[in-house]
Amino acid sequence: MQTVTSPSLKSDGLSEKAQYYIELEEKYGANNYHPLDAVIAEGKGVWVWDTSGKKYLDCLSAYSALNQGHCHPRILQAMIEQANKVTLTSRAFRNDQLGKFYEKLSQISGLPKVLPMNSGAEAVETAIKAIRKWAYTVKGVPANHAEIIVCSNNFAGRTISLISFSTEKQYQHGFWPLTPGFKVIPFGDASALKRAITPNTAAFMLEPIQGEGGIIVPPDGFLKKAEQICRDHNVLLIFDEIQTGLGRTGKMFAHQHELVKPDGLTVGKALSGGFYPISAFISTEEVMGVFHPGDHGSTFGGNPLAAAIGMAALDVIIEEDLPGRAAQLGEYFLEQLKSIGSPHIKEVRGKGLLIGLELHPEAGGARRFCKALVKEGVLAKETRDHVIRFAPPLVISQAEIDWCMDKISRVLTADS
Ligand SMILES: *Cc1c(COP(=O)(O)O)cnc(C)c1O
Repeated sequence: MQTVTSPSLKSDGLSEKAQYYIELEEKYGANNYHPLDAVIAEGKGVWVWDTSGKKYLDCLSAYSALNQGHCHPRILQAMIEQANKVTLTSRAFRNDQLGKFYEKLSQISGLPKVLPMNSGAEAVETAIKAIRKWAYTVKGVPANHAEIIVCSNNFAGRTISLISFSTEKQYQHGFWPLTPGFKVIPFGDASALKRAITPNTAAFMLEPIQGEGGIIVPPDGFLKKAEQICRDHNVLLIFDEIQTGLGRTGKMFAHQHELVKPDGLTVGKALSGGFYPISAFISTEEVMGVFHPGDHGSTFGGNPLAAAIGMAALDVIIEEDLPGRAAQLGEYFLEQLKSIGSPHIKEVRGKGLLIGLELHPEAGGARRFCKALVKEGVLAKETRDHVIRFAPPLVISQAEIDWCMDKISRVLTADS
């Protein structure tokens, strides 16, 4: 691993090298993020190393894109092999990887049709296009009137249409005009869903557990009720499983905790195990059937390098039983976090290895604790102002959780 013989540390604890990289980012980069100052140079499994060789346990996993851990050797191998053959054909031609990738995603999700994109935001945009066209061509909603119901506190990405149905004012502020056609109901409220439905409602689209919104688990039975309401009104049920899917919550998909059958799913993040941006909208014959050549596309979507990486990433999730690990170790981690006796902690909640630790407002915000955790060698990041998310790679061991817990409880019980 990377080592520096004698890093000269500055007063803030950063080496000169780290300081240099930070200054470069600050000087030339847009200021759209507020990163914690760990300058990562290498990663392996649950661990990363900074430019001075200090190691950290990664409890964020790039927002759950690294369920398989950093630089998983099997995915790396698939990437190198495919990169040596052919990387991009465009969808103007066919390639020998894409069909196999479709088949695997279809088998895993239980839905027959796949449309590949790159970022998560694009997968959700694709879902919205499919939903709207289905409303007009199948359900018979009058032109321009299709409505999509979403939940408050949602996160779907940063494009104009996706921020248009956000309830975070900062996400929208200054970016007007917004895209119409969305209706917001409280997350977890089945009767509000029923009331919001009109003859023009095309879909109810939601995260089965809200990730960026602070790891919010809906009341038991909500997804099942939502499914029934949607069926009764010929409304599509679409889950955004970009963060919750692919093993994170202890099942392959979070909606499987309630044995619900959605009409469509968006996946991304861990679909490549962190090697490459890969996402997809997966749906039924009926919904996907609305797309005809020229309706939608992406230069990189479905390229053979992405497909090869995606297949290896899915194989790792299945063969290493990452959903099972997440279920078992998630329960352990959650119990450990709940046992911390700290006056700052309001609630610890989550499913599998998607855990939120909410602090009392009087604790002064989650960020100072995240900073302290970074100093201790644990990478965690606040989501919203008062929640620390713990979402390590699903390959984490119990001993590594114990290592981490020692630091977390120290930081949360330290005075100040
Ligand atoms: C991260 C995320 C997205 C957006 O994915 P990007 O790859 O950042 O565009 C969409 N939905 C959910 C639930 C997410 O967590």
